[in-house]
Amino acid sequence: MTIIRQNTPFETAEEKKIFWETSSQIMAQALLRLYPDVKFAIGPAIDNGFYYDIDLGQRLTDADLSQIEDEMRRIVREDLPIVCRPVTRMEALGEAVAKNQPYKIEIINSLPQDAQLTFFDDGEFSDLRVGPLLERTSQVRAFKLMSIAGAYWRGSEKNKMLQRIYGISFPKPSMLDEYLQNLVEAKRRDHRKIGREMDLFMFPAEGPGFPLYLPKGMVIRNELMSFWKELHSEKKYNEIRTPIILNEDLWHTSGHWDHYKEHMYFTDIDGDAYAIKPMNCPGALLAYKRRMYSYRDMPVRLSELGHVHRHEPSGSLHGLMRVREFTQDDAHIFMLPEQVKGELKDIIKLIDDIYSVFGFSYKVVLATRPQNAIGSAEDWTRAQDALKEAVEDLGIEYDIAPGGGAFYGPKLDFHLRDCIGRTWQCGTVQLDFQMPQRFDLTYTGADGEKHRPVMIHRTVFGSIERFMGVLIEHFEGKLPLWLAPVQVKIISVSEKHNETAWKLADEIEAAGLRTEVDARNEKTGYKVREAILARDSYIIVVGEKEATSDMLTVRSSKAGDMGEFPKTEFIAMLQKEIAEKAL
Ligand code: ZN
Repeated sequence: MTIIRQNTPFETAEEKKIFWETSSQIMAQALLRLYPDVKFAIGPAIDNGFYYDIDLGQRLTDADLSQIEDEMRRIVREDLPIVCRPVTRMEALGEAVAKNQPYKIEIINSLPQDAQLTFFDDGEFSDLRVGPLLERTSQVRAFKLMSIAGAYWRGSEKNKMLQRIYGISFPKPSMLDEYLQNLVEAKRRDHRKIGREMDLFMFPAEGPGFPLYLPKGMVIRNELMSFWKELHSEKKYNEIRTPIILNEDLWHTSGHWDHYKEHMYFTDIDGDAYAIKPMNCPGALLAYKRRMYSYRDMPVRLSELGHVHRHEPSGSLHGLMRVREFTQDDAHIFMLPEQVKGELKDIIKLIDDIYSVFGFSYKVVLATRPQNAIGSAEDWTRAQDALKEAVEDLGIEYDIAPGGGAFYGPKLDFHLRDCIGRTWQCGTVQLDFQMPQRFDLTYTGADGEKHRPVMIHRTVFGSIERFMGVLIEHFEGKLPLWLAPVQVKIISVSEKHNETAWKLADEIEAAGLRTEVDARNEKTGYKVREAILARDSYIIVVGEKEATSDMLTVRSSKAGDMGEFPKTEFIAMLQKEIAEKAL
């Protein structure tokens, strides 16, 4: 009898873990059927799928993977019930010895004497797992084995190199198809590849995690920053710029030394210890402290496009998405306690406005008190409640990430959703009662007494770097015109048309557009292909006809061939597209 389960839960991280652990078990079972000598190490669920590390006399190939998949399909069709069987440590050890599984023996031996263990049995197979797993093998309806890699036993180079098989699985075939499709898309959109093709930035071997911006990358960066500055000035923010290097004492006062040291770089000046800022807050606190504020001055909004350095492990670096130096579009706002809610709502609205200019949807996550928190439980509850109320007042749905807050306060994180459904943590709003205390910040109240202001830290883009990376992948490099480094590419058909091309470029530039002329002695088709690869927004080929008339033949990076336009009409169309920040 086949029991059809329509809805295997697959929403939360925990549900996915159960699903992928079960898939790993099925893969192991298939491996044992095909290779009776296989030795199993570990086979966990990971963020995206599952793997199993195995020791096998032969090197597996892609052809072997499809055989293993076939066997897994059989196990799924057999619809075997999966049963949890608690065992003592001794029983587990006995079973591992009987099955000649040396890695399992080592794992069991490393556990405490009184450890409670569980085997999960399905059909002839059983595996040592913490669980839980799904009830039946038939629930894993769609899966694919993705790749084979080498992995040292227990992650140490001193140990034997094992083979790691990665897989992914879903409750429905359509979900697997979509996932595989998105993988192809993600590869096609990889900002590191597109960044090279557009000549935007590079990552020199001399600076791992330190991006080097090229002229065209700077255009995008500067456009983003000007847009940001304009909006913030409208919203009554005042810009500051705080030093990159500040005395180490300051970082003791701020709490960074105790709670953030491992992410910081240090240096020495004239025999004194200094730190390179990983955050802009302490500098902003110094700016606030320079004078006495009155309640009438509040809120004080100090914004800063702050250049910070944070140490990240080399393995986690990823193009512009995870770097060791970046510019945060930061602001520190000091306010009266009764202004907190209104200010929070204004910030959330500002973030929403900015994201919608790029057409992004997003999800909000409230991250609460972490292990290494400073400050009283009361302050934390008060701050968390304020954040909650602000989003709820605005009718915004949010998830909660327990323990995900900054060490000085809880936060709302904004995760952008890109066109292939991935999310990227970008904006953040953090409420902080601690730093004002640590730096003894005050303002004069209506009663003439000194009071403690509340502080908000917030970013919208998060970092210019990551935001640029997300934009490039989201738009596949075909950026909205206002951001495009080359808005009009003018290609001359042959040398005798160069003059016309340069003259046209001058005219278009005079209208406020960014142009580039390709007057190289190359075939027109080749030059056009290069311009397309560089994602130049509009391409105009200048030949005989253009030299004698005012009509332009236009190709757009987004729409392809657009036909002919009178020059003035073309320019006006682009000006409008830029002014509207059209998508
Ligand atoms: Zn801050």
